[in-house]
Amino acid sequence: MKPKIVVLGAGESGAGAAILAKKKGYKVFVSDKGKISQKYKNVLSQFEIDYEEEKHTESKILNVDEVIKSPGIPDTVNIIKSLKEKNIPVISEIEFASRFTNAKMICISGSNGKTTTTLLTYHILKSAGLNVGLAGNVGKSFAMQVASKEFDFYVLELSSFQLDGMFDFKADIAILMNITPDHLDRYENDFRKYIDSKFRITQNQTKDDDFIYCADDKTIVNEIKKRNIPAKKHSFSLIKKPDHEGYISENNLIIKIKPNILKMTLEELALQGKHNLYNSMAAGIGSKLIGIRKDTIKKCLTDFQNVEHRLEHVATIHGIEFINDSKATNVNSTWYALESMNNPVIWIAGGIDKGNDYSLLKNIVRQKVKAIVCLGVDNTKIHDFFADDVEIIVDTGSASEAVRTAFNLSEHGDSVLLSPSCASFDLFNNYEDKGEKFKKAVNNL
Ligand code: ADP
Repeated sequence: MKPKIVVLGAGESGAGAAILAKKKGYKVFVSDKGKISQKYKNVLSQFEIDYEEEKHTESKILNVDEVIKSPGIPDTVNIIKSLKEKNIPVISEIEFASRFTNAKMICISGSNGKTTTTLLTYHILKSAGLNVGLAGNVGKSFAMQVASKEFDFYVLELSSFQLDGMFDFKADIAILMNITPDHLDRYENDFRKYIDSKFRITQNQTKDDDFIYCADDKTIVNEIKKRNIPAKKHSFSLIKKPDHEGYISENNLIIKIKPNILKMTLEELALQGKHNLYNSMAAGIGSKLIGIRKDTIKKCLTDFQNVEHRLEHVATIHGIEFINDSKATNVNSTWYALESMNNPVIWIAGGIDKGNDYSLLKNIVRQKVKAIVCLGVDNTKIHDFFADDVEIIVDTGSASEAVRTAFNLSEHGDSVLLSPSCASFDLFNNYEDKGEKFKKAVNNL
């Protein structure tokens, strides 16, 4: 009899997983509590895969061998609880698809910098001529690619939600950028649980594998001390120390991995800002461990095109620079955005608060921000927190109103920075939508 599998959630990862499962001879059923987009309905029909939307029919779900769950579905929903009670394994699309490929896996996780580091690593591997795929939290689903392509390498961006559904998967190279509180609503407000989730990136690694991490992140460093991680460890830091393989010294970025030393000036780097030094070092070390030549890595760290919505320069109007950092949806990423600003800042912030602790931003806001333009439905917390630090705090209800207000408040030599620190779906579909509307409004000024 064919093994039976159910896929919960028919988005990019779910549709990909369903197709892969079908191709591999499973009996597949897809169930989504919400509406399934026409695009994915067409794909499922094309592969003759049975599906339902706007409901979960228990009789069709609770009698299968395995369930692949979209990372967007929390463990607290009824259907997942029922599956757990019946001891039916619930896994992620990444776990499932990894069973059907022998490609080497370079995996990147962290609270911030995942996408940038993933794309940077992919850019280096691709430029070096490797047969490499890009998947995980970015682009086309991993499962769909495993179903249709034969890559030798994959660069995978892994969120904590994906890691939670991974058990036997092994990263050949694991990269952990940082761990700062985020998404705690999905971890019972327990930072410990979130840390454990992030460290799943090292599970199943052996002494033949590599683990690259940020030595400036206290949480990561403390955790490594407590754990037995057999993989070879490689650290990067802004500070030069003998055991760091990536570091900054006298305005140079250094990667010291045998057989040679890669050295380049900070001005040469395509991605500027302190946070991007980490991202460049992490991608550089990962690539070097694969054996890519230092000249190729250097060239790629120089010519990489910045990713949309991450400290993206939009335009300079009357000497005022507009920057779109709509992907900064937590306090830590906004800290790095503000840190990289050299001009007085009009800061556009707000949206859905994920339990933000703004105290991390207090000093930097005092130093750099001359006005806050709130762009969200409920901005009380921002007002309350920064009332003593910033003279002008105003509310706006649309991207165009926020941009016009920020423009009126700024003068030649200022920067207008959209860096929300919050999720975007109170007024927008998602952070991309917020970023697009912001850019449009700037271009309409
Ligand atoms: P992620 O995929 O983890 O959300 P991104 O690469 O998309 O991370 O970057 C999101 C935002 O986080 C960027 O706009 C930037 O402001 C900030 N950021 C990027 N890299 C780092 C880093 N290494 N440390 C802290 N913040 C970062």
